[in-house]
Amino acid sequence: MGWLTSWRRRRVLAKHRLEDALWRRTAGSLSFIKTLSPPEEAKLKDLVILFLAEKQFAGVGGIEVSDAMRVSIAAQACLPILELGLDWYSGWTGVVLYPGDFRVRRSELDEDGVLHEWEDELAGEAMPGGPVVLSWDAAAHDTSINVVIHEFAHKLDMLSGAPNGVPPLHAGMSRRAWLAALNDALEGFCDALERGRDTWLDPYAAEHPSEFFAVISEAFFQQPKETRRRYPDFYDQLKLFYKQDPASRV
Ligand SMILES: [Zn+2]
Repeated sequence: MGWLTSWRRRRVLAKHRLEDALWRRTAGSLSFIKTLSPPEEAKLKDLVILFLAEKQFAGVGGIEVSDAMRVSIAAQACLPILELGLDWYSGWTGVVLYPGDFRVRRSELDEDGVLHEWEDELAGEAMPGGPVVLSWDAAAHDTSINVVIHEFAHKLDMLSGAPNGVPPLHAGMSRRAWLAALNDALEGFCDALERGRDTWLDPYAAEHPSEFFAVISEAFFQQPKETRRRYPDFYDQLKLFYKQDPASRV
């Protein structure tokens, strides 16, 4: 990002402040905020202000998007980029909110030329170069599953082209080490799934390496100690990528 963006962001931060009561309410509903150090929380608040200045929220399906909703979504979205910066979310602007899960039409042409069409019910969707779509009902509930972190992890994954579970890695990181840790974790996960064992992570993670990355990113931030215990190698890779060690916070 050029000097113009930095200048604009400095101006936004100089002119805007998050209302204290609003932030306290957001912090009260998102457990991860309580684990942040004061400097980390201050950094998150700045990112939230910038996120709200640069992204556009739209409500569909009869939902009216309130400031509280915007701040909550922004706080969750900015946790993964706390140490990476907002440039990691550049190239698109929209956040679309539905009141609850939403239906999307899918179609696929198979190799025999037959067109299959069906409807999916989703809690979130991230489109390459396009908006992030979220169900407010799913985003508002702070549980071990976090649809906001999930969709924004997809956005980071998409920065390297097609989503494949490998976001752009930093200098000094090894693609080979990332892939080895990812494949090991995913293989063990699929194996447990096949044997009918409890998989801890959402079985949906077995769909594709990109889904595994998104699902384990939720766990990395929401249940870091258990993630580190179950997937120590991939936890280390995630720690290098996100430049955060959430297990050391709790
Ligand atoms: Zn996904």
